[in-house]
Amino acid sequence: MENPAKLLRVDGKRLWRSLMEIAEIGATPGGGCNRQALTEEDRQGRDLFVRWCREIGCEIRVDRMGNIFARRAGIDNSLPAVITGSHLDTQPTGGKFDGVYGVLAGLEVLRTLEEKGIRTKAPLEVVVWTNEEGARFSPAMVGSGVWAGEFSLEYGHSRVDKAGLSIGQELERIGYLGTEEAQPTPIKAAYEAHIEQGPILENQDQVIGVVTGVQGIRWYDLTFFGTPCHAGPTPMEDRRDPVKAMAWLCERLYGEVRAYSEDARITCGDLRATPGSRNTVPEKVVLALDLRHPMPEGLEHLHRTLYRMVEQVQEASGVAIDIREEWYSPPVAFNKNCIEAVESAVQSLGYSHRRMVSGAGHDSVYVSRVAPASMIFVPCAGGLSHNEAESAEPGHLEMGCNVLLQAMLASAELS
Ligand SMILES: [Zn+2]
Repeated sequence: MENPAKLLRVDGKRLWRSLMEIAEIGATPGGGCNRQALTEEDRQGRDLFVRWCREIGCEIRVDRMGNIFARRAGIDNSLPAVITGSHLDTQPTGGKFDGVYGVLAGLEVLRTLEEKGIRTKAPLEVVVWTNEEGARFSPAMVGSGVWAGEFSLEYGHSRVDKAGLSIGQELERIGYLGTEEAQPTPIKAAYEAHIEQGPILENQDQVIGVVTGVQGIRWYDLTFFGTPCHAGPTPMEDRRDPVKAMAWLCERLYGEVRAYSEDARITCGDLRATPGSRNTVPEKVVLALDLRHPMPEGLEHLHRTLYRMVEQVQEASGVAIDIREEWYSPPVAFNKNCIEAVESAVQSLGYSHRRMVSGAGHDSVYVSRVAPASMIFVPCAGGLSHNEAESAEPGHLEMGCNVLLQAMLASAELS
């Protein structure tokens, strides 16, 4: 006989109402939200979430980074918990869905189970991570980062905003400096629902992104050294032109990256010529290069390709090229079992879907270092996010929440 829990569905209207209610806190004239971390608005958003969770009998814990854990007891509370969550803070001109959707989708899962009187074997938790956006306090994802051991608690507390107020002070002021240690408890599986923040699902007319990981990123500054000379009298063959060498390198690199894999990305977002005069061959060109790939070996391949091409172009053009490595953020591969749990939930629900890699960072990046994790994406209009006009279809949000419900039930098990 078919497991009756498979037929369980969330209440999409209730989810939407809650999203709209919390969006009134810090609502902006442009239709978005300004609920930056640890402000009065963030406190109100947290208070509302805590009230909603208490109404359905959850136990609330707050850790020393202000991360909130709302726990719904299981049948056997010695089992590792199945968790979900995201963030309630927004950009200064943020939208109504980035982060808050993942928190309220978790709440809707618990409300649905409570309403139907269904108890899971393992306990369930919905988490609100502190300061994901990094808008008021840098860096981003600092609450989940401290919890996962990426940063120390002292580092987390000492982050200051532009006015010099620290996270530690502000947590205390808004009443969310908890007493629990900011460190992982045993976790069976962690899921995060989120809007995609890109255009792929919408363009492909698909509803659910089964997120397999987060892209790795490498940043470089390339400097091309030429010989400055007059644009008129100097014959072309007598020039050492850094722009020509740069264009040549870019042409070859873009081709290589495109041919290597459709998951590879190359971006030259900034280039500066010195001295910057129309009728002088530049002395120097500095190019800011961004390479991305979801797999460590893929990013490594792009890295080696860059060095190889730079050497070839250097030899052929006589233009010296210097490479400075600026930043490296390794790729994240989510847990195989969690990815498969999301995928089989989508399949059993019959929703259109694709596997995809996140181009943006999320709390799940840090969570995945200490617990099996994966994410669920739903489309947002035009791929627009970090924008007051950010928008998502109620039906899509409901479907993403159904996937979350089924994935959490599969991990937490019914008796
Ligand atoms: Zn987010």
